[in-house]
Amino acid sequence: MKKLKVKDLARQYSVSPKEIMEELVAQGIKVENDVIPADMASLVESYFSDLYRKKRSEKKGGGARSSAPAGGKVTLSSPVIVKNLAEAVGRKPNEVISDLIKLGELAGINQPISEANARKLCRSYGFELELGSAPAAEAPAEAPAEPEDDPADLVPRPPVVTFLGHVDHGKTSLQDAIRHTQVAKGEAGAITQHIGASTVTYNGRMVTFIDTPGHEAFTSMRARGANATDIAVLVVSAAEGFKPQTVEAMNHALAAKVPIVVAINKIDLPEANPDQVLLHMQQHQLFSEDWGGTVGTVRVSAKTGAGLNDLLERILLEADMLELKANPKRRATGTVLEAQMEPGLGATASVLVQNGTLRPGDAAVCGDCWGKVRMLISDRGARLKSAGPSVPVKVVGLSGIPEAGDRLEVYPNEKAARLEAERRVAEKRNAQSAASGIVTAEDLFSKLQSGNRNTLNLVIKSDVKGSGEAIVQSLAKLPSEKIRAEVVLNSVGAITENDVMLAAASQAIVVGFHVRVNPGVNDLAKREGVEIRLYSIIYELLEDITDALAGKLEPEKREKELGRAKILQIFELTKGPRVCGCLVETGVVRVGAKARVFRHKQLIYNGEIQSLRRFQDDVKEVKAGLECGIRLDNFVDFDQGDEIEVYEIELKKASL
Ligand code: GDP
Repeated sequence: MKKLKVKDLARQYSVSPKEIMEELVAQGIKVENDVIPADMASLVESYFSDLYRKKRSEKKGGGARSSAPAGGKVTLSSPVIVKNLAEAVGRKPNEVISDLIKLGELAGINQPISEANARKLCRSYGFELELGSAPAAEAPAEAPAEPEDDPADLVPRPPVVTFLGHVDHGKTSLQDAIRHTQVAKGEAGAITQHIGASTVTYNGRMVTFIDTPGHEAFTSMRARGANATDIAVLVVSAAEGFKPQTVEAMNHALAAKVPIVVAINKIDLPEANPDQVLLHMQQHQLFSEDWGGTVGTVRVSAKTGAGLNDLLERILLEADMLELKANPKRRATGTVLEAQMEPGLGATASVLVQNGTLRPGDAAVCGDCWGKVRMLISDRGARLKSAGPSVPVKVVGLSGIPEAGDRLEVYPNEKAARLEAERRVAEKRNAQSAASGIVTAEDLFSKLQSGNRNTLNLVIKSDVKGSGEAIVQSLAKLPSEKIRAEVVLNSVGAITENDVMLAAASQAIVVGFHVRVNPGVNDLAKREGVEIRLYSIIYELLEDITDALAGKLEPEKREKELGRAKILQIFELTKGPRVCGCLVETGVVRVGAKARVFRHKQLIYNGEIQSLRRFQDDVKEVKAGLECGIRLDNFVDFDQGDEIEVYEIELKKASL
């Protein structure tokens, strides 16, 4: 059993250990080495809980805050969110999170927690929790409360397929060729409408193809919670084999956990070498069924039409294995593929219906827009009376233009839809004002998402392959019974927008080792709520992640700024890496201190000062007002005008 200590009580009630000791002495309880005797522990706990509850309510008197009224009651809406609970009881969110971990539950600052633990926590802070309905302003509109689908209502639905791959390997041509062969075979009508997706029928079965937007769009949709794709077709030119974007696309499909079918395209070309593609697949752990693996691999030519039927058949086989089902009887839900203003129609949104059936007259909410569906238009320009699961349609009648990736939901009536849309607008506004760029261990921890609270997903970018692998291996060895780190992507190079979108889609954090962040990427990360952490020492990276995994949320180390310098000019040296000539603007810069480099306020490097030079001499430190040459550890990508922030890590003083 855990020992109850004086200092724990002091921290719990935010008072000095001395005060606790005095109280204990007054109660005649002996304490040895700061530890309260085990047989007295529960008595002592309830004594202090009562004592401080009374003190607090006395202090607050008649002017008690509404969230913590006198009498020690706090009223919170259900489900209880960590942040709200912390506010209501006057605690720091990370304190609440730490205490929650002790109760065996993991949650981030903005996540809901179980009612039982919310009650326990409140009690331990000296409050009684009352679960009330949310205040009127936040009251959710009539949600489309529909029961779980009755298995009897579930029917097979068509697969939704996305083509991914390197540019010019034939994604668009393949999709066009598939459509044409089917249209040529007499399928009704050519594609006349661009609605972000199209459908073909093969052997009486429908397949929906999302227009090939590249894996960036595929992942940014996923980042918005839209998992529209069931099967990814990885298109690889038989003439060129795997290219960097092929690998990236493959990684994005793997991260999305959708089955991959490889289409080896351009087999009509004389230089085509399909075996080389099989070899590249093997090298990237994508084991083709041609060589005893399981990944479907089809040789095709968009030009001659060879293999297209085989590709469709392989896709349908994959769909059979997935046993894709949906319930056409329920109200529709779907995902916006694209949206725009159109002359004569107003705002239109192309939507992939994913469950249920969408009909004209339905009251729909789409992102923060809403409206009564006036018209549904198919990819062949036909007006539809209904659109069932996996059917893409253009929806006419919305109040505004939603964003790609937004969800469409049908509400029982127009009023409910409007209220819900208004609530979302307000929520977005609040979230924007609450967003801040400060990164804390709490944020890191909050990435342990509610659905899958025992994994921390990571996108790792490093300078060379070896260091990425070393990080992965070390992560695998981290001691943690409850939580583990899962690597979504481990690749080489600077941190790009793509990495951030992948991290957003996978609820991951981006960890950079000896790499820089590309321009603009920090802004995107901030908007998407993705955390980027840069390291130059593996040990520090592992320590941070271990801390996050172990839930040690109170920082034991604190950063102290030493000084700032501006880069005035760059010295290219014949021997050794380039050096930046700087003016120390404030404080001091010191050899061995930590340094961050910012360009236009964007962080591009986080590492260490390797050496300092004044004129011809190596020096240990340089003070404000002086110029010097700075060499950074493992970083030469600086430029004139970049700012260097120099800091050191202070160990936090013990609280006793
Ligand atoms: P995407 O960038 O992956 O969408 O590639 P495209 O579909 O735009 O194709 C790029 C180029 O490759 C175009 O010039 C196509 O005509 C050509 N192409 C596509 N598929 C084939 C094929 O099977 N055989 C040959 N010979 N050329 C192809």
